[in-house]
Amino acid sequence: MRVLVVEDDPMIGRAVLAGLHEQGYAVDWVRDGAEAELALAHAVYDVALLDLGLPRKDGLEVLKGVRRAKNDLPVLIITARDAVADRIAGLDSGADDYLVKPFDLDELLARTRAVIRRHGGRGQSEISYGALILDPARRRVLFQGSEVELSPREFAVLEALLKEPGAVVSRERLEDAVYGWGEEVGSNSIEVHVHHLRRKLAPQLIRNVRGVGYRIARLP
Ligand code: CA
Repeated sequence: MRVLVVEDDPMIGRAVLAGLHEQGYAVDWVRDGAEAELALAHAVYDVALLDLGLPRKDGLEVLKGVRRAKNDLPVLIITARDAVADRIAGLDSGADDYLVKPFDLDELLARTRAVIRRHGGRGQSEISYGALILDPARRRVLFQGSEVELSPREFAVLEALLKEPGAVVSRERLEDAVYGWGEEVGSNSIEVHVHHLRRKLAPQLIRNVRGVGYRIARLP
Protein backbone atom coordinates (compact mmCIF):
# COMPACT_ATOMS: atom_id res chain seq x y z
CA MET A 1 0.00 0.00 0.00
CA ARG A 2 1.38 3.35 -1.03
CA VAL A 3 0.40 6.51 0.84
CA LEU A 4 0.92 10.15 -0.10
CA VAL A 5 1.28 12.39 2.94
CA VAL A 6 0.80 16.11 2.22
CA GLU A 7 1.80 17.98 5.36
CA ASP A 8 3.96 21.07 5.87
CA ASP A 9 4.33 20.76 9.65
CA PRO A 10 7.61 18.83 10.13
CA MET A 11 6.69 17.42 13.55
CA ILE A 12 3.32 16.09 12.48
CA GLY A 13 4.77 14.87 9.18
CA ARG A 14 7.52 12.91 10.90
CA ALA A 15 5.10 11.34 13.39
CA VAL A 16 2.64 10.32 10.67
CA LEU A 17 5.47 8.96 8.52
CA ALA A 18 6.84 6.87 11.40
CA GLY A 19 3.39 5.49 12.21
CA LEU A 20 2.73 4.53 8.60
CA HIS A 21 6.18 2.95 8.16
CA GLU A 22 5.67 0.88 11.27
CA GLN A 23 2.52 -0.51 9.65
CA GLY A 24 4.45 -1.42 6.51
CA TYR A 25 3.08 1.25 4.18
CA ALA A 26 5.26 2.76 1.49
CA VAL A 27 5.08 6.52 2.08
CA ASP A 28 5.90 9.59 0.02
CA TRP A 29 5.86 12.82 2.01
CA VAL A 30 5.49 16.19 0.30
CA ARG A 31 5.28 19.55 2.04
CA ASP A 32 3.22 21.83 -0.19
CA GLY A 33 0.25 21.76 -2.52
CA ALA A 34 2.23 22.14 -5.75
CA GLU A 35 4.51 19.22 -4.84
CA ALA A 36 1.40 17.19 -4.03
CA GLU A 37 0.03 17.74 -7.53
CA LEU A 38 3.35 16.72 -9.03
CA ALA A 39 3.43 13.54 -6.95
CA LEU A 40 -0.16 12.68 -7.90
CA ALA A 41 0.65 13.14 -11.57
CA HIS A 42 3.56 10.70 -11.39
CA ALA A 43 2.60 7.92 -9.01
CA VAL A 44 -0.44 5.86 -8.12
CA TYR A 45 -1.44 5.89 -4.48
CA ASP A 46 -3.84 3.82 -2.40
CA VAL A 47 -4.70 6.81 -0.24
CA ALA A 48 -3.66 10.44 0.36
CA LEU A 49 -3.53 12.12 3.77
CA LEU A 50 -4.02 15.79 2.96
CA ASP A 51 -3.47 18.84 5.13
CA LEU A 52 -5.46 21.92 4.05
CA GLY A 53 -3.31 24.87 5.16
CA LEU A 54 -0.35 24.36 2.83
CA PRO A 55 2.25 26.62 1.16
CA ARG A 56 1.91 27.33 -2.58
CA LYS A 57 -1.51 25.74 -3.00
CA ASP A 58 -4.29 25.14 -0.52
CA GLY A 59 -5.17 21.51 0.17
CA LEU A 60 -8.79 22.06 -0.77
CA GLU A 61 -7.70 23.26 -4.23
CA VAL A 62 -5.48 20.19 -4.59
CA LEU A 63 -8.46 17.99 -3.71
CA LYS A 64 -10.76 19.76 -6.16
CA GLY A 65 -8.15 19.30 -8.89
CA VAL A 66 -7.94 15.56 -8.13
CA ARG A 67 -11.70 15.18 -8.47
CA ARG A 68 -11.89 17.36 -11.58
CA ALA A 69 -9.38 14.97 -13.16
CA LYS A 70 -11.84 12.12 -12.37
CA ASN A 71 -9.26 10.61 -10.04
CA ASP A 72 -11.12 8.62 -7.35
CA LEU A 73 -8.09 8.33 -5.06
CA PRO A 74 -9.26 7.95 -1.44
CA VAL A 75 -8.46 11.20 0.41
CA LEU A 76 -8.43 11.72 4.15
CA ILE A 77 -8.14 15.37 5.19
CA ILE A 78 -6.00 16.07 8.26
CA THR A 79 -6.31 19.68 9.33
CA ALA A 80 -6.52 22.18 12.16
CA ARG A 81 -9.56 23.78 10.50
CA ASP A 82 -12.25 22.47 12.77
CA ALA A 83 -15.21 24.69 11.92
CA VAL A 84 -18.28 22.80 10.76
CA ALA A 85 -18.26 24.86 7.54
CA ASP A 86 -14.69 23.69 6.81
CA ARG A 87 -15.60 20.05 7.38
CA ILE A 88 -18.58 20.36 5.10
CA ALA A 89 -16.47 22.08 2.42
CA GLY A 90 -13.85 19.31 2.65
CA LEU A 91 -16.35 16.47 2.36
CA ASP A 92 -18.32 18.24 -0.36
CA SER A 93 -15.10 18.75 -2.33
CA GLY A 94 -14.62 15.01 -2.46
CA ALA A 95 -12.78 14.00 0.71
CA ASP A 96 -13.57 10.52 1.99
CA ASP A 97 -12.99 11.42 5.62
CA TYR A 98 -11.93 14.37 7.74
CA LEU A 99 -9.79 14.31 10.87
CA VAL A 100 -9.11 17.42 12.99
CA LYS A 101 -5.70 18.13 14.55
CA PRO A 102 -4.48 17.33 17.06
CA PHE A 103 -5.40 13.73 16.38
CA ASP A 104 -4.43 10.42 17.87
CA LEU A 105 -2.05 8.52 15.57
CA ASP A 106 -3.88 5.23 16.11
CA GLU A 107 -7.13 6.87 15.06
CA LEU A 108 -5.47 8.25 11.93
CA LEU A 109 -4.18 4.76 11.06
CA ALA A 110 -7.61 3.20 11.68
CA ARG A 111 -9.35 5.80 9.51
CA THR A 112 -6.72 5.32 6.81
CA ARG A 113 -7.45 1.58 6.75
CA ALA A 114 -11.20 2.24 6.71
CA VAL A 115 -10.95 4.66 3.78
CA ILE A 116 -8.84 2.16 1.78
CA ARG A 117 -11.22 -0.67 2.67
CA ARG A 118 -14.34 1.24 1.64
CA HIS A 119 -12.66 2.24 -1.59
CA GLY A 120 -11.99 -1.43 -2.32
CA GLY A 121 -15.69 -2.08 -1.77
CA ARG A 122 -15.08 -4.21 1.27
CA GLY A 123 -17.05 -3.81 4.46
CA GLN A 124 -15.05 -6.55 6.14
CA SER A 125 -11.54 -5.71 7.21
CA GLU A 126 -10.15 -9.22 6.67
CA ILE A 127 -9.07 -10.44 3.26
CA SER A 128 -9.24 -14.19 2.76
CA TYR A 129 -8.09 -16.28 -0.17
CA GLY A 130 -8.10 -20.04 0.16
CA ALA A 131 -6.42 -20.94 3.44
CA LEU A 132 -4.87 -17.49 3.77
CA ILE A 133 -6.44 -14.77 5.90
CA LEU A 134 -4.91 -11.30 6.15
CA ASP A 135 -6.18 -8.77 8.66
CA PRO A 136 -4.79 -5.29 7.88
CA ALA A 137 -6.20 -3.75 11.07
CA ARG A 138 -4.37 -6.12 13.39
CA ARG A 139 -1.46 -6.73 10.99
CA ARG A 140 -2.18 -10.42 11.41
CA VAL A 141 -1.82 -13.27 8.96
CA LEU A 142 -3.35 -16.69 9.40
CA PHE A 143 -2.49 -19.60 7.15
CA GLN A 144 -4.27 -22.93 7.43
CA GLY A 145 -5.51 -21.86 10.84
CA SER A 146 -2.17 -20.81 12.35
CA GLU A 147 -0.88 -17.32 12.90
CA VAL A 148 2.30 -16.47 10.99
CA GLU A 149 4.72 -13.70 12.03
CA LEU A 150 5.68 -11.43 9.13
CA SER A 151 7.89 -8.35 8.95
CA PRO A 152 6.10 -5.13 7.89
CA ARG A 153 7.59 -5.41 4.40
CA GLU A 154 6.68 -9.07 3.99
CA PHE A 155 3.17 -8.10 5.07
CA ALA A 156 3.10 -5.29 2.49
CA VAL A 157 4.17 -7.64 -0.32
CA LEU A 158 1.46 -10.14 0.64
CA GLU A 159 -1.15 -7.40 0.89
CA ALA A 160 -0.21 -6.11 -2.57
CA LEU A 161 -0.50 -9.62 -4.04
CA LEU A 162 -3.92 -10.00 -2.43
CA LYS A 163 -5.29 -6.77 -3.81
CA GLU A 164 -6.42 -8.64 -6.91
CA PRO A 165 -6.00 -12.26 -5.83
CA GLY A 166 -4.72 -14.47 -8.62
CA ALA A 167 -3.70 -11.57 -10.88
CA VAL A 168 -0.07 -11.19 -11.88
CA VAL A 169 1.62 -8.30 -10.08
CA SER A 170 4.83 -6.91 -11.54
CA ARG A 171 7.95 -6.57 -9.45
CA GLU A 172 7.84 -2.84 -10.07
CA ARG A 173 4.35 -2.59 -8.61
CA LEU A 174 5.42 -4.59 -5.58
CA GLU A 175 8.36 -2.24 -5.07
CA ASP A 176 5.96 0.71 -5.25
CA ALA A 177 3.78 -0.93 -2.60
CA VAL A 178 6.67 -1.55 -0.23
CA TYR A 179 9.10 1.34 -0.65
CA GLY A 180 8.60 5.12 -0.63
CA TRP A 181 10.74 7.67 -2.46
CA GLY A 182 14.30 7.89 -1.38
CA GLU A 183 14.26 4.49 0.28
CA GLU A 184 17.05 2.21 -0.81
CA VAL A 185 15.64 -0.68 -2.86
CA GLY A 186 18.10 -3.49 -3.43
CA SER A 187 17.93 -5.06 -6.89
CA ASN A 188 16.66 -8.34 -5.46
CA SER A 189 14.78 -7.12 -2.37
CA ILE A 190 11.34 -8.19 -3.63
CA GLU A 191 12.77 -11.65 -4.38
CA VAL A 192 14.09 -11.79 -0.83
CA HIS A 193 10.69 -10.88 0.67
CA VAL A 194 8.99 -13.46 -1.57
CA HIS A 195 11.53 -16.07 -0.52
CA HIS A 196 10.78 -15.41 3.15
CA LEU A 197 7.02 -15.48 2.54
CA ARG A 198 7.29 -18.85 0.82
CA ARG A 199 9.38 -20.22 3.66
CA LYS A 200 6.99 -18.95 6.35
CA LEU A 201 3.75 -19.81 4.53
CA ALA A 202 4.08 -22.38 1.75
CA PRO A 203 6.58 -22.72 -1.13
CA GLN A 204 3.83 -22.97 -3.76
CA LEU A 205 1.79 -20.02 -2.42
CA ILE A 206 3.55 -17.39 -4.53
CA ARG A 207 4.14 -18.27 -8.16
CA ASN A 208 6.74 -16.68 -10.42
CA VAL A 209 5.46 -15.61 -13.77
CA ARG A 210 8.64 -15.42 -15.75
CA GLY A 211 9.47 -11.93 -16.98
CA VAL A 212 6.19 -10.52 -15.68
CA GLY A 213 6.00 -10.78 -11.91
CA TYR A 214 4.26 -12.81 -9.24
CA ARG A 215 0.83 -14.09 -8.47
CA ILE A 216 -0.67 -15.66 -5.42
CA ALA A 217 -2.12 -19.17 -5.61
CA ARG A 218 -5.27 -20.27 -3.87
CA LEU A 219 -4.25 -23.04 -1.52
CA PRO A 220 -6.74 -25.15 0.42
CA1 CA B 1 -0.44 23.06 7.48
